[in-house]
Amino acid sequence: MSAALEGLYINGQWHAGVEVLEVINPTTETTLAHVSVGDANAVTAAVDAASAAFPAWANTSGAERGALLRKIAQGVSEQRERLMHLQSSNNGKPLFEAGIDVDDVIATFEYYAGVADALDAVQDQPVALPSHDFSARLRREPCGVLGLIVPWNFPMVTTAWKLAPALAAGCCVVLKPSEVTPLAELQLATIIAAAGLPDGVFNLVCGTGLAVGAPLATDPRVAKISFTGSNAVGVQVMQRAAETVKGVSLELGGKSSLLVLADADLELAVELACGGGFFNAGQMCSATSRVLIADELADEFLTRLHARAERIRVGEPFAEGVEMGPLVNRAQYQRVLGHIERGIQAGAHLVCGGKRPADLPHGYFIRPTVFTEVALDSALWNEEIFGPVLCVRSFASEAEAIALANDSDFGLVASVVSTDLNAAERVANALQVGLVWINAPQVIFPQTAWGGYKQSSIGRELGPWGLQAFQEIKHVIRAV
Ligand code: NAD
Repeated sequence: MSAALEGLYINGQWHAGVEVLEVINPTTETTLAHVSVGDANAVTAAVDAASAAFPAWANTSGAERGALLRKIAQGVSEQRERLMHLQSSNNGKPLFEAGIDVDDVIATFEYYAGVADALDAVQDQPVALPSHDFSARLRREPCGVLGLIVPWNFPMVTTAWKLAPALAAGCCVVLKPSEVTPLAELQLATIIAAAGLPDGVFNLVCGTGLAVGAPLATDPRVAKISFTGSNAVGVQVMQRAAETVKGVSLELGGKSSLLVLADADLELAVELACGGGFFNAGQMCSATSRVLIADELADEFLTRLHARAERIRVGEPFAEGVEMGPLVNRAQYQRVLGHIERGIQAGAHLVCGGKRPADLPHGYFIRPTVFTEVALDSALWNEEIFGPVLCVRSFASEAEAIALANDSDFGLVASVVSTDLNAAERVANALQVGLVWINAPQVIFPQTAWGGYKQSSIGRELGPWGLQAFQEIKHVIRAV
């Protein structure tokens, strides 16, 4: 067995934990690394360190914190290739996708460096009052020690979306990466350590959800939990947090739609359907796994989508020209195949895919899969599959398309394809989601919010909203 990586970074020191977990390469199904992980005691030590570091860190200026965030961005940039490699080997995503992830991390730290810089000028801003007898000022203060819990599908990205605004606000953190994909996070932690943050400001505890995530969500000294993951676990985190009235920010699941209106450019629609369904092997909370197509275009669209899906090159993430890698692990592979099997049994029509590629006997690969005739009350239509599976359905009117898209417990994102921009904007306004792309791939900017309606989220990440989630508002009113 290779030496286990130390999976705890607490108070500026690396430590081994109490048990060793195996990290798998999903392309080969072999062991990639061993990581020594923590338990509730490690969480207590990390929260001790974060609590001790908090008063001094909270008193630093925004400009000081901005400078450190910029150093982290630079460190990530210098290690771009290495981080991409770790992300692709651990998660299975093609190397070009890992590059998009790392660039997103850099952009997020740079953006929040600027946000931190700007904080000093607005601290203690006077508040206009309808009285000359009193004056008031507004302070924005960091809310305290944060627990950050992230999943395996975009591990570094979800971490950056929480960590950068947390540090910008002046909070101290305990980060728990996914036990499935800790490797890029461990490397990111070495970059953060090298950037020169005071000890205890950033702490990392690798481990399982029950051993590490649950005690983090319970510790009364943690002011807020920012969680990204499944709805089932999000509910548990919220329940634990409720016991000590902790704040929670939740980024959970989705069942999003791509709406192709009657005047759409079909080639663009097919590309966006494939991007929205098969990027990261469909393991995206923002997957547009419902494809809604205008009746008059449906036959031609399906023919082209079928042909394009069959051409998608599935293979190992480092191979030239590969468009889709494996799913992240055996559990996820079996879960997605189970959804496909049950969909077929329930009467949905399998257009293509649905199984392992013939030329890839190893690895958790599933061919891009397209279904039609999916019942509106089926699991395939309503549940998050989190794999490369699209369900295509036609509609007769704009109103029907909007109703179909909005008929979901989730409301994360949507895409609209149309050459009639007035119609596209009208549809975008009617969708109950947090982000709509029109004729565009799923581009994300740190300036625009991430999060959704209904059971997809509580709160928003990115932009000023990502920072505000980690700030308390204080007013000081004085008699004059
Ligand atoms: P998950 O909920 O199983 O795990 C997420 C994290 O929570 C992991 O770090 C896990 O170890 C931890 N955890 C597990 N049990 C816990 C517990 N009892 N208490 C505290 N922490 C616990 O999710 P996953 O399988 O890693 O990721 C896939 C899910 O994440 C999907 O449902 C997807 O939609 C969601 N997701 C949402 C977004 C978004 O922005 N809305 C982004 C990415 C992923």
